[in-house]
Amino acid sequence: MKNLIRFFILIFFIFFSGCSQKPDNTIMTVNGPVPAVKMGVSLTHEHILVDFIGADSINENRWDKLKVSEKALPFLVEIRKLGCQTFVECTPDYLGRDPLLLKSLSDASGMQIITNTGYYGAAGDKYIPKHAYLESAEKLASRWIDEWRNGIGGTGIRPGFIKVGVDAGSLSDIDKKLVEAAALTHLETGLIIASHTGPAVPAFEELEILKEAGVAPEAFIWVHAQAEKDLSFHVKAAKMGAWISLDGYSSDNTGEYVSMIKNLKDNGLLNKILLSHDAGWYRPGEENGGEYRGYTDQFEILVPQLLKEGFLQPEIDQLLVKNPAAAFSVKVRKI
Ligand SMILES: [Zn+2]
Repeated sequence: MKNLIRFFILIFFIFFSGCSQKPDNTIMTVNGPVPAVKMGVSLTHEHILVDFIGADSINENRWDKLKVSEKALPFLVEIRKLGCQTFVECTPDYLGRDPLLLKSLSDASGMQIITNTGYYGAAGDKYIPKHAYLESAEKLASRWIDEWRNGIGGTGIRPGFIKVGVDAGSLSDIDKKLVEAAALTHLETGLIIASHTGPAVPAFEELEILKEAGVAPEAFIWVHAQAEKDLSFHVKAAKMGAWISLDGYSSDNTGEYVSMIKNLKDNGLLNKILLSHDAGWYRPGEENGGEYRGYTDQFEILVPQLLKEGFLQPEIDQLLVKNPAAAFSVKVRKI
């Protein structure tokens, strides 16, 4: 009897998964557009390279692309073998975003990689370029829209999402401006907005700014939502339509991740969760790029644990395949 019920649940999921993904939706990878149905198992928040030197000092001469590739490639190959097909690289401009490096790694590994446009206003504004203070939100948006239309810095490589970041607590003026610019960019490009946020207070302020700009919560990924320990806020934001990114998974927080996922599942919101490790990465200035953390824990530990706790395979597919495809589909989401 139990097997029969499982069978019908499976048929239900197969039927509805076919309906939920429109065949003409696309994602934008560093190798160009790909149908969203081909995104496959995805990690939605990881890094290949991050340089914490600061916006005033960063430049691409601080790392050797070949050395970074040599270091990062085995980690990508390792998760390709575990079935991961798409890797969302969340390092923004002025923190070490390097589209050509990502393209060469995508070609070498067979991994679909997505890069981004936008500026990072977290970490006390150390990674915000000076012009962002002088320019309007409209002007900043026009820079990001230009990257979408014409590619990043003459590479022809186009971003697949908008990455911004804000500091904890109530939003500062510069953080507000970045979110406004992200909203304007979204309306012009259909790129989803992933904002490094953490606690609930700035998350809901960001959603309010998007609302004022006419952008729906479905266009917003609440990055590092796991930092908010009052799980009722996850439910509240997900019910509004926002994506809840639980992206700091590692083997030592399995219990916490299972509870956060179950909490959303119990509220019928499994379709609003994105999972990842926020792992990696090559660190310029450190010997041989420093310590590099791989991306396998989610596949080797978290997924088996969820299955053990009664999750069904279609629900795992929802988390790892369908949700990323829906979130990263290039599509304007207006209120
Ligand atoms: Zn990150």
